[in-house]
Amino acid sequence: MKKNLVVVGYGGMGGWHVEHALKSDVVNLLGIYDIDPAKVEKAKSKNIFAYDSLEAVLADERVEIITVAIPNDSHRSVVEACLNAKKHVICEKPVALSVEDLEAMINTANKNGVIFTTHQNRRWDVDFLAMKQIADSKEIGDVVRIESRIHGSRGIPSDWRGTKEHGGGMILDWGIHLIDQVLRIFTAKIDSLYCETTHYTNSEVDDGFRLSMYFEDGKTAYIEVGTFNFIPMPRFYMQAKSGSAMITDWREKCKVVKCKAWHENDVLPVKTAAGLTKTMAPRDSITTDVYEIERPSSDVHDFYRNMVKAVNGEETQLVTHEHMLDDMKVMEHAFLSASLKQVVKFKY
Ligand code: NAD
Repeated sequence: MKKNLVVVGYGGMGGWHVEHALKSDVVNLLGIYDIDPAKVEKAKSKNIFAYDSLEAVLADERVEIITVAIPNDSHRSVVEACLNAKKHVICEKPVALSVEDLEAMINTANKNGVIFTTHQNRRWDVDFLAMKQIADSKEIGDVVRIESRIHGSRGIPSDWRGTKEHGGGMILDWGIHLIDQVLRIFTAKIDSLYCETTHYTNSEVDDGFRLSMYFEDGKTAYIEVGTFNFIPMPRFYMQAKSGSAMITDWREKCKVVKCKAWHENDVLPVKTAAGLTKTMAPRDSITTDVYEIERPSSDVHDFYRNMVKAVNGEETQLVTHEHMLDDMKVMEHAFLSASLKQVVKFKY
């Protein structure tokens, strides 16, 4: 049986949740709630029921799941109100602005015995899934380094995302996705990290950042988000013990170069204007295989399918409280490192 859903916040992402719910095989949309009368009118024009207040949503006994898709600084108060009304909650990312806030939200969920998770929808992106598939299968050996970048050239959107007050900035906006993805591939404990933020187009919040993560098993990850990059760098680059993998653009397939023989008999040197190099000469087909992997299949609607099963007690929620806390801790350490301009030891 479908679970009854209300979406709080009918903006860009709330609109996505509504469209999804209207087609869903597991949830039934009861309506939306938004503080903006224009959004209420928009909902009504599409024959979607709009509640008058959050209290009205919470008082409706039919409501089982609430998806919260409002600006980041308002997540905690609205989520806690929903949890205290014993509604199961999906909150948009970043679920909170601090570890302290998130711990309080998790305690509220546990106290009320309800499911509380966050919408880490980019776990279903096929570029990430291709990287995870290569890492998990070990087809090019153990992965030792991941570089994950996302580059745009339009600065931060001119809405609340550009303001500190509302929890703007790219660490909280895109960083959370890329951090969450890396932590699904590298599962060792984090030893330390270093982060620098950029402010090319916005002095109040970061319009990009560069984050180096050092894991206790010696692996490293580098995450970079930029909104002032007119030439984007590759989306993913991964080094493993027997090869490398790269995705240039998230619409592209993953290219793999697998080393099948480390030693070479004859290396043809590369001639440059100033001399010759064998060290940097490309490999040939005798020692490497070069291929592309098919884009993995993915259905982001599995997020809601899992949520409903978690509510029914049939599955564990995919985005666990532990994942949510780890992601938040990385962001908090990244902000600290950027303010100190220092590598910081990671505290769990
Ligand atoms: P938006 O500005 O387009 O929409 C926010 C909506 O919330 C607006 O309609 C606003 O009127 C409403 N609102 C504000 N405060 C409210 C309150 N207290 N109660 C009810 N409604 C309220 O913003 P957006 O882009 O939709 O972002 C919303 C959330 O979704 C953010 O947390 C953002 O980070 C997240 N988001 C996630 C993804 C993703 O891929 N997972 C993508 C975009 C945005």
